[in-house]
Amino acid sequence: MKKLSLFILVLLCACKTDKKNEYFDAIKANDVALFAPASGEWLYSHKEKGQTFEQFENSKHITPTKEANIIYIKPIGNFTAIQNKQIELLREYLEIYFQLETKIGEQASDDIIPAHARRELTKDYEQLLAGYILDSVLKKEKPLNGIALMGLTEKDLYPKPEWNFVFGLASYSQKIGVSSIYRLQDEKLTDSNFNLCLSRLLKICSHEIGHMFGLHHCIDANCVMNGTNSLPETDEHSIRLCSVCQKKLNTGINYDNKKRLNELADFFQRNKLIEELQLMKKDMVSTR
Ligand SMILES: [Zn+2]
Ligand SMILES: [Zn+2]
Repeated sequence: MKKLSLFILVLLCACKTDKKNEYFDAIKANDVALFAPASGEWLYSHKEKGQTFEQFENSKHITPTKEANIIYIKPIGNFTAIQNKQIELLREYLEIYFQLETKIGEQASDDIIPAHARRELTKDYEQLLAGYILDSVLKKEKPLNGIALMGLTEKDLYPKPEWNFVFGLASYSQKIGVSSIYRLQDEKLTDSNFNLCLSRLLKICSHEIGHMFGLHHCIDANCVMNGTNSLPETDEHSIRLCSVCQKKLNTGINYDNKKRLNELADFFQRNKLIEELQLMKKDMVSTR
């Protein structure tokens, strides 16, 4: 009797895996091949080998547990109402994208960054030291039930005195990262650039947190996990995870692929992110 129930269980698991693979095989048709990298682009200067699904599977990567399963975003700075609206949309998007509860942690003022970890380049332009935020703020503040913590600053960031700026910095082993919205927002966030800036924020944060879940840079297709050297390059990259990267994320988090896809499409529709919606619709057609 025991043997029979074990056999049925194995059979059920095999059917489930087959169904999941069917999904990834179906959406593979919508993966778009990358062009050969041009001078200045990420893959031109970084000869990356990529990460196969098998390499991901054999790597050490985190999975949500009963005790730690929440993604946190911590805003640092004085954000305007329109910026706060964007952070709330980011929270909603990450919750759908990773299919994990996502919360906005307590907002902090820039005052928590001491003078030795900031520099004023002009009267209206001050930068914050990214490493300080990582080591002296986020490391201490990651809640016990947090699986990942993403700090978000309003001011620009720099990594070292000799560098001009940095978009963000992360410790993938500790599952903490910090990004700035400063350069994503074309100087000033308004109603007319809102969606372009939102799309960048969604791409950058889902990419960084994707690394925390063990996904390496993708060289297989135009994918949100592609490495990037500049904002124009980020703008060229797809917000969609390619089929191989989706299979990796799903193996780590174990969610319902169709539910995630429908919710992503609904998010893009409600927020009038039309190109992004078209990508989801193609996957919906392929998996009908
Ligand atoms: Zn990256
Ligand atoms: Zn990919």
